Amino acid sequence: MNPGSVPDLPALHATHGGIWLATAEGTRALGRGEAIARASETPTILLNAPLVAARLGLSELSGLDLLELYAFVHPARFAVPTPAGLARALGLAPPEDDAAAAAFLRHAADRLLATLSDPQWPEREGAWTAAQALGRLRWPWAGLVAPLIERPARGERWLFSKLPQWEDAPERPAPRPLRLGEAETLERLASLVGRDAEPREGQRAYAAAAARAFDPREAAGRPHMLLAEAGTGIGKTLGYLAPASLHAAGAGAPVWISTYTKALQRQLAAESARLFPDDAVRREKVVIRKGRENYLCLLNLEDALQGGFQGRAAILAQLVARWAAYSRDGDMVGGDLPGWLRTLFRRAGSTALSDRRGECVYAGCPHYRKCFIERAARASESADLVVANHALVMILATRRMEEGRPLARIVFDEGHHLFDAADSTFAAALTGQEAIELRRWILGPESKARGRRRGLAARLLDVASYDEEGHNAIEQASAAARELPGDGWLGRLAEELPLGPIEKLLAAVRGTVYARASAADAGYGIETHAAELDPALIEAAAPAIDALEGLMRPLARLRQRLQAVLEDAPDWLDHAARARVEGALSGLVHRGQTIAAWVALLARLGGPADPDYVDWLAVDRIEGREFDIGLHRHWLDPTRPLADAVLKPAHGVIVTSATLRGGEDWTTAEARSGAAHLDRTPMRFAAPSPFDYPAQSEVLIVTDIKRGDMAALAGAYARLIEASHGGTLGLFTAIQRLKAVHARIADRLARAGLPLYAQHVDPIDTGTLVDMFRDDPRASLLGTDALRDGVDVPGRSLRLVVMEGVPWPRPTVLHGARRAAGGGTAFDDRVVRARLAQAFGRLIRRADDHGSFVLLSAATPSRLLDAFPPGVPILRLPLDEAAQRIASRLSLQPALRHQAGIDTIPG
Ligand code: SF4
Repeated sequence: MNPGSVPDLPALHATHGGIWLATAEGTRALGRGEAIARASETPTILLNAPLVAARLGLSELSGLDLLELYAFVHPARFAVPTPAGLARALGLAPPEDDAAAAAFLRHAADRLLATLSDPQWPEREGAWTAAQALGRLRWPWAGLVAPLIERPARGERWLFSKLPQWEDAPERPAPRPLRLGEAETLERLASLVGRDAEPREGQRAYAAAAARAFDPREAAGRPHMLLAEAGTGIGKTLGYLAPASLHAAGAGAPVWISTYTKALQRQLAAESARLFPDDAVRREKVVIRKGRENYLCLLNLEDALQGGFQGRAAILAQLVARWAAYSRDGDMVGGDLPGWLRTLFRRAGSTALSDRRGECVYAGCPHYRKCFIERAARASESADLVVANHALVMILATRRMEEGRPLARIVFDEGHHLFDAADSTFAAALTGQEAIELRRWILGPESKARGRRRGLAARLLDVASYDEEGHNAIEQASAAARELPGDGWLGRLAEELPLGPIEKLLAAVRGTVYARASAADAGYGIETHAAELDPALIEAAAPAIDALEGLMRPLARLRQRLQAVLEDAPDWLDHAARARVEGALSGLVHRGQTIAAWVALLARLGGPADPDYVDWLAVDRIEGREFDIGLHRHWLDPTRPLADAVLKPAHGVIVTSATLRGGEDWTTAEARSGAAHLDRTPMRFAAPSPFDYPAQSEVLIVTDIKRGDMAALAGAYARLIEASHGGTLGLFTAIQRLKAVHARIADRLARAGLPLYAQHVDPIDTGTLVDMFRDDPRASLLGTDALRDGVDVPGRSLRLVVMEGVPWPRPTVLHGARRAAGGGTAFDDRVVRARLAQAFGRLIRRADDHGSFVLLSAATPSRLLDAFPPGVPILRLPLDEAAQRIASRLSLQPALRHQAGIDTIPG
């Protein structure tokens, strides 16, 4: 092969609309059979091999994946994984159409390979060493790549010596009390939005109201709380960043900004550049903090690189190591590691590269001083603004409250999700997966196949050799942990051969759930009330409680011993050992609480129901395959623990959203944010959106699609997407219907030049799917709940939202209990109104966006239509007319047609 060019390598491009092969002779269309034969005989250039495999109807396909080459050449650089996206990332002209894309792939490969010999290549360091290692692993690109990279004169710095070390900083002094003046708040706002920007009254009023949440607290347990609804377009992000940044700088204390979606985290990271234009200063002042399972664990990576991973997983580890050397913060989920990289490897090993099970050895780790997780945790202590998600903020706030250093100032953006986030954070679940995680945390992995993973005994070796009681507690905890479910538990339950008291309990749970399930359960999750239980299940609870208590006791003793060690501070307890013991201690506290919650859950089985909680049994399945079984407990009102653990210890809290009231009155917002549990009335603020919704949008309720008629539903989606020339977000409440619709229409749309992507169908993560959708104005995206919120795609790419029907809540046990407590139908209506408002909110993101919102359900009750902004035209009409309106609305907007490039589509 000729290094530096790919003259002999064919490239294959496959979409729902066809398959094309490009060679040095030219490009031609070919059939599936021939494409499969060519790709298996000859090394072939592909873009996203799993996706191409899916298009060819194969479960797997190997080849020269351009995305892998891109990840090697430009680690930590963003690229949308489509031909056009790759073209933009490489500064090449995007291919005109699908047929031209195959030849483009060869061109892109040439460009990437040529970069390897470019003296200006910024990501050269480490590449030679990585290419040699990838060659040994038989990476398909290695033979082309390695000869092009000049061997460095001196040995390249190994990743672990290259990364910078974090420094310890002294604890910050107590915050200075501060009362922000309105003038200085508005002045800061003006500097953020730009002196030349037109003043927006709604935003100014918002910032002034937000400033009051930073006033000094007057009484313990009574924070200043502001509920602020700011319609889309008000500019609420800068509205609260203005006083938050002033407070943080003036008081010398961080403000935590909590979001529900990654999209908003990204937006906040971008907006913070207005506050701190200098990159280095911004990194210090604004920190994105995530759960530790999001970050790369360097010790796990080292292990993977040194033989812990085999085959494809080992190749992934090498590409991740390339990325780690250039990454901003080591965040593997939503950071600068491309979301598509993990899916190219079908997640082989990627989860094992993070610290998912709390096995960190802290200062016992040789990379502790370079650890991304430790760096982020320390950076957040000295930052002005810490951006995190609701779940992490709630967990940290709870821990900090227990440690007596609460999170004092919190802004919950996307505050309409606070209830749901609290619902999962403060819940308890005794399931097989949870129990086996605990067993592994204590015992280490049972199979010797992979990795350095170690149990508690190995992590606390020095304590055990120093303290006999500690040693005994570890031994006893290890013995007790063997009573928990072990590897292969799901198979044993399926064969009715459970081992140990917890597996026996789970077997009884499984039996009860199946006995009560309805016949038409369709292969997804099934559940039943934890009430009127069989005696067999109640009997199985007693030995399970004994086993859990038998584990709790030695863990509690060990906790005491670790505390004693920290207090006595023996000679060997240097800074490093202290950090490790503290790490183990916090793990023990957290797990002790979990086991106590499990025992409480079991102790209630068979007894009278506790009105504060909702308990149920569940078997989790995907397409008939079981993946977890267990018992669940949620608070009937999760804002109670939210108020106690997060709100009351704080000094000031803002809960804000475009749809905070969800079309209801303030009482609902107060109930769903936890404000109702404070003995101080929250402040309220509302500013309507400045957008002209009646002129910019319309709601169309299609009246002639029969419920349950899948062919008609699919046909309607296709018609509407065609009328809109793509740019459609299709929302579903059930995965099966999404898949069925996609299967029926993807080919038809692709032939019309309208790509269709779908969650749960395409082997691509959701964030990347949204990037692909945003990047191509002709593309459409089908998805479920996660897309109803947090998709911020401007009108050029999103001009039509189609919902398959009224988004009624699923009739789960939990929903049933809340419905009964919350007013029956009125409760359901509140849920639906909020969902409709969120989905509609995807449509108009900018002042010049236009679009239509379609509900494919004739039976949409009129009482729910006040979920939409006042004055928006709402029409009930047949599909034909809806499609015509959408097409003519589009034809009236030449600018949008031009931007979206849809003038070039005939018809
Ligand atoms: S300190 Fe812990 S999380 Fe960080 S690299 Fe080491 S083992 Fe991994």
